[in-house]
Amino acid sequence: VKRSGKNAFRFFDPALNTHHRERITLENDLRNALGRAEFELHYQPQVSLAQRRIVGLEALLRWNHPVLGSLGPSGFIQVAEELGLIGEISTWVLEQACAQLAQWRTEGHDGLRMSVNLSPFDFDKRDIVSSVTECLERHDVPASQMELEITESMMMNDSAGVAAKVRALRAAGVSVAIDDFGTGYSALAYLQKFPVSTLKIDRSFVRDLEGPMTNPIISAITGIARGFDLDIVAEGVEQAEQAEALQMLGCDIMQGYYFARPAPAAEVRSWLQQPSM
Ligand code: C2E
Ligand code: CA
Ligand code: CA
Ligand code: CA
Repeated sequence: VKRSGKNAFRFFDPALNTHHRERITLENDLRNALGRAEFELHYQPQVSLAQRRIVGLEALLRWNHPVLGSLGPSGFIQVAEELGLIGEISTWVLEQACAQLAQWRTEGHDGLRMSVNLSPFDFDKRDIVSSVTECLERHDVPASQMELEITESMMMNDSAGVAAKVRALRAAGVSVAIDDFGTGYSALAYLQKFPVSTLKIDRSFVRDLEGPMTNPIISAITGIARGFDLDIVAEGVEQAEQAEALQMLGCDIMQGYYFARPAPAAEVRSWLQQPSM
């Protein structure tokens, strides 16, 4: 902000100025957040209707800001990317997710799949393949229990060699999911170039489901999944009717507020201890 004179601020839009200050504060706070241990992972269950149990969990980042309270990632992930902080954050998320998975394994919860969201920047600078495999080894967690979520936009711009890295991760036994599937511009050809293992049906498609009826988009996605031998996870399931409709459309694994909101590990532990849902 240029302070040319005493009354200079009169010529600024006060709202814009406030916004600018908030942004600078946010940036500084974000730089310190890791060191001050302000990040936390919440976990949202993925439920198999057929098995009537939790088969996986998506790790979702939360920032316990000292003043603003718990912040969701949509408000700060992009800023972290712009500041070049996302690599460190992703490393922390992977580490935390693996440690938690290892913890649940010692408590007798085997075979759970942990899904971690990656940023496009994670494929740029660091060697994501060795970061992931080393983290799994360190915590003695089988690669088959780790799933990384990427987006269609990361598949379109392949300057960072995302395809080769996805192939290497898959060769190491790690699952890879396409997040928000169907909302981007992915062509079917990408599914050959990127040997992913899971399609996550975006919640915008689930939201439109009202009762057991046919739905061309979801039918098409389940058809693609069958053709390429991929798993499907439906996101954003909020109502029993949507779960029923999805089941009839051939989708078994679901995630959404209807089953459970993202929650801290302690709460998830009590859900895992229930014999069946
Ligand atoms: P996403 O990967 O699509 O995650 C699903 C989002 O939908 C989560 O929001 C989740 O809380 C929310 N959600 C789950 N079930 C329902 C439902 O039934 N209805 C509705 N309306 N929403 C539901 P959240 O936690 O705020 O995360 C937002 C986005 O931030 C995520 O979208 C993901 O793209 C990103 N993100 C989250 N954690 C991380 C992370 O550790 N690293 C990176 N790079 N991105 C992350
Ligand atoms: Ca996700
Ligand atoms: Ca998603
Ligand atoms: Ca999303």
